[in-house]
Amino acid sequence: MAAEYSLVINGGRVLDPETNFDAVRNVGVKDGRIAAITAKKILGEETIDADGLVVAPGFIDTHWHYTRPWSNKLALRDGRTTLLDLEFGTHGPYIHQWYEENRGNTQVNYGQAVAHEFARSEVLDGFTGAQDLPSASKTRAAGTGWSVKLPNLEEGNRILQLLDEGLQAGGLGIGSTLGYMREGVSARELFEIQRLAGLYGRQVGAHCRYTPGTEVTETNGFQELLANAAALGAPAMACHFNNPGYNLVHELLVRMRERGMNVWGEIYPYAAGSTALNAVFLEPEMWVETLGHRYEDTLQDVVTGEFYTQQSREEMLKKDPVRLVVLYKMPESAILDWLKLPGVSIVTDGMPMLPDDDLTWDTPYEDLPNTHPRGAGSNAKSLRLARENDISLMQIVAMSSYNSARPLGLMGLTAMQERGRMQEGMVADITIFDPQTVTDNATYAKGTLPSTGIPHVIVNGTVVVKDSEVLKGVNPGQPIRFEPVESRATPLSVEGWTKQYYAAPVDFCGPSGC
Ligand SMILES: [Zn+2]
Repeated sequence: MAAEYSLVINGGRVLDPETNFDAVRNVGVKDGRIAAITAKKILGEETIDADGLVVAPGFIDTHWHYTRPWSNKLALRDGRTTLLDLEFGTHGPYIHQWYEENRGNTQVNYGQAVAHEFARSEVLDGFTGAQDLPSASKTRAAGTGWSVKLPNLEEGNRILQLLDEGLQAGGLGIGSTLGYMREGVSARELFEIQRLAGLYGRQVGAHCRYTPGTEVTETNGFQELLANAAALGAPAMACHFNNPGYNLVHELLVRMRERGMNVWGEIYPYAAGSTALNAVFLEPEMWVETLGHRYEDTLQDVVTGEFYTQQSREEMLKKDPVRLVVLYKMPESAILDWLKLPGVSIVTDGMPMLPDDDLTWDTPYEDLPNTHPRGAGSNAKSLRLARENDISLMQIVAMSSYNSARPLGLMGLTAMQERGRMQEGMVADITIFDPQTVTDNATYAKGTLPSTGIPHVIVNGTVVVKDSEVLKGVNPGQPIRFEPVESRATPLSVEGWTKQYYAAPVDFCGPSGC
């Protein structure tokens, strides 16, 4: 009998979160797609024995800031087949080139939103040439306008035009680091960028104002994003709401979805976050006085592992303002709550490994510069916690895949209508793990150790991780983007757009008239 499939995965427990399918089956892959899910014996040119293993949709990370060969390897070891940056993103004029640069040489599927912060850097600080998040050390060093400056009418329009350029090029909505900007971003500005993305039916994903904050301020920050989304009928994503107030933020998302709105949220399963030392919310007025933290207990240097004091923080700010730090902000016990929330996505917020000038695909994991462990371990950690705490496997698999694919698919993003699902006809992005042993190994002290218990990962029908080894030179990753389109903003002349932008009243006619 001749092999009918290029790849067959035999005897694994197949989980599909969309249909709740959970049964032992054989999976046949052909032409990059799942061609069969069957109890019958099937033959492939290549065979994986999945006896005792779970066969799940490839994990989707919508909050990944560091698409590099050495970091993508770690993501694959954690079961991730798609890495998108929907929070920070890439500069609008650079979106097309970013996709071109990753084409044919990337092991995972890849994609970017358009970066609000970089549009502001260009217009308000004069920094051109920004790329993706690792460029932020340069753009932030070029000035503080991106954070503190309120644009005038002309500047405001220019910001929108740069964002529009990225949306026309197929960017995945707009990512905003609003919480890093101060009085520079008016309520009107956030509303206008949500309107612009909404004209394309695309989401704005935001690190909201006041994150991380108190239960009140944190929730208010998300309410700003979500109220705009409701008023505009535009999709929105609440970035890392794993902070005080998470219960209410989740309830808002669920209730808005019940009313037909495409809004969702993501968490990373760690009590600590990670950011640059000069983040506005780490200043004493906010971090110490408002939020009640002590630097000595909560602010740790990623490289040295030392905790800062107020004085050592100030000294370091002069030397290396964007140095990466870990900040402890939530009780460990909250993580289990987050992992039980329906409809939520697990992401990583994976950060750069710096300095990275000499890193290559071959750099051993243990030699990679330290970074927050979430980039290496979020998915395996969630699966381990589920095992240890009796959380259903289907819930974690849904959070790792379908819960991100579904809302992105609803935006008309074809690539996400056919991923995140273990169903015949879907793209064969598949993660195979051992539910009894899967575990994270990365720690705050050593954040670059790969997860284990995820022996096989398949991207677009091609085996990329085999027997827990990432295969060198195998680059089946596909772009996750919209088709380039004409500007949807052109019906508004630049002059009209100016008026639309700041001059109230704006065109407020809703679907049912004025
Ligand atoms: Zn963030």
